[in-house]
Amino acid sequence: MTSLPVLPLSPDPPGRRPALPPRHLADLDLAGRQALVAELGEPAFRARQLSTHYFGRLVRDPARMTDLPAATRERLAGSLMPRLLTPVRELACDDGATRKALWRLHDGSLVESVLMGYPDRVTVCISSQAGCGMACPFCATGQAGLTRNLSTAEIVDQAVYLAGVAASGAVSGSPPRLSHVVFMGMGEPLANYSRVVDAVRRLCAPAPEGLGLSQRHVTVSTVGLVPAMRRLAGEGLSVTLALSLHAPDDELRDELVPVNQRWKVAEVLDAAWDYASRTGRRVSVEYAMIRDVNDQPWRADLLGRLLAGRLAHVNLIPLNPTPGSRWDASPKPVEREFVRRLREAGVSTTVRDTRGREIDGACGQLAASETGSADGR
Ligand code: SAH
Repeated sequence: MTSLPVLPLSPDPPGRRPALPPRHLADLDLAGRQALVAELGEPAFRARQLSTHYFGRLVRDPARMTDLPAATRERLAGSLMPRLLTPVRELACDDGATRKALWRLHDGSLVESVLMGYPDRVTVCISSQAGCGMACPFCATGQAGLTRNLSTAEIVDQAVYLAGVAASGAVSGSPPRLSHVVFMGMGEPLANYSRVVDAVRRLCAPAPEGLGLSQRHVTVSTVGLVPAMRRLAGEGLSVTLALSLHAPDDELRDELVPVNQRWKVAEVLDAAWDYASRTGRRVSVEYAMIRDVNDQPWRADLLGRLLAGRLAHVNLIPLNPTPGSRWDASPKPVEREFVRRLREAGVSTTVRDTRGREIDGACGQLAASETGSADGR
């Protein structure tokens, strides 16, 4: 692991800090940006110019927007592109193929995002909330509770920023263009529903309205907020839904994913199948393998029966270590047997790689602390 230089911080604004971040062009669709630019007394086409810089060229420095008159540039960028994310620290591992960024938001809240390069694609894992209110006991993010929802632009800007890092060639051995976004960072995306759906639309709108990603390359992960899952199925989006199941039975799931006390396994799977049938998209079922907790052969068989014949894929995640957790990952032979039983039941199953573990950047390790254990190692 290499520790990259800490970037300079801008001083906190004086006086009381507002709760909501300043408005940014990524909060608005193109028509909204044009209306705003007109309100500022500029011709509407300037909105398209600014948007082309931000989404199309990944440029955020007004000095580089030379197609705009110098005075206009500063004024418009000041109004439509305020700085939302201040980089605090960037850590890299896997020979630079995995990078975790820690950001400070305008009110001092901290969030993290992870950039992952593969030979054929570049993925960013982004946060939808500062903290998380879902309290899953094996996840580091859940331990500190929820600070606040992120705005649409705070969500989008994580991807745009890291798309710029990828475009600069920082991830060797990978294509320079960001292709995939997963909402698997901090927070419960469906608990910040409208901003997350807006962010998805912006990430997928063609430039200059948005970043131009394919909807099929965007994954929204949820603990299983049933009404929001059903609502998402009706948005007309072709994004992948990931469901963090982690147990096939209510008794255990009530403990591992406390929201199960409200929406049971059967209800959550019903909503998942509704999503699959309305969108034609295979649902990704996430299952962290926890030694002697959820990894027994009978649970594999029960999971197999629940998923057989459904439009589903199981992603087993070896449990990543988190501070103070009393649980470990399942031994490899146990994991292999779990996979074998699921496949025997006809359920497509893979084991996720543990990218970013040594920089606390893997699933469930994002805690956004400035004094995290990854510091100064
Ligand atoms: N709140 C959403 C988005 C977070 S996605 C959700 O829970 O789906 C992060 C994924 O990593 C979830 O599937 C989560 O359950 C899983 N996870 C959390 N802690 C983990 C850990 N310690 N090891 C492996 N996976 C973990």
